[in-house]
Amino acid sequence: MKPSILAAIILSPLLAFCQQPNKQNQMKDKAFPVQKSEKEWKEILDSDQFRVLRLKGTERPHTSEYNMHYEDGIYSCAGCKAPLFASDSKFDAHCGWPSFDKPVSDTVVVEVPDNSHGMRRTEILCANCGGHLGHVFPDGPKETTGMRYCINGVALDFEDR
Ligand SMILES: [Zn+2]
Repeated sequence: MKPSILAAIILSPLLAFCQQPNKQNQMKDKAFPVQKSEKEWKEILDSDQFRVLRLKGTERPHTSEYNMHYEDGIYSCAGCKAPLFASDSKFDAHCGWPSFDKPVSDTVVVEVPDNSHGMRRTEILCANCGGHLGHVFPDGPKETTGMRYCINGVALDFEDR
């Protein structure tokens, strides 16, 4: 057998594997440091938190205590307590959800393409537990990052400083 044919036989399944661009695979491969069963999450989250963080739900706009909240402090993940957003990156986007122009660092959140509901959006997950936080949009304040991290308030805890 010619070496080139052999290479094609060996490589083609590998290529096919590498080219599967689907979110399902990424999510399965991605091992978040904090892993809990559904039962364990239900023990530490209330029903609204569970629906948003674990089932990718969205809270009703203008319902979060953190929407119009401008105390000085740090917003952390309600699921695993990882620090996510600082109060000095919070701004009023008039959208009904707490909005930030950046996370505390690039490593605390994970961005995932989300084409559900007929929209092309970028979902934001907690990098520590994989909890769904919200979405990021490129319509934030131009004078800073230009990004708007639109976050469900129930997915956040707040600690003042
Ligand atoms: Zn988390």
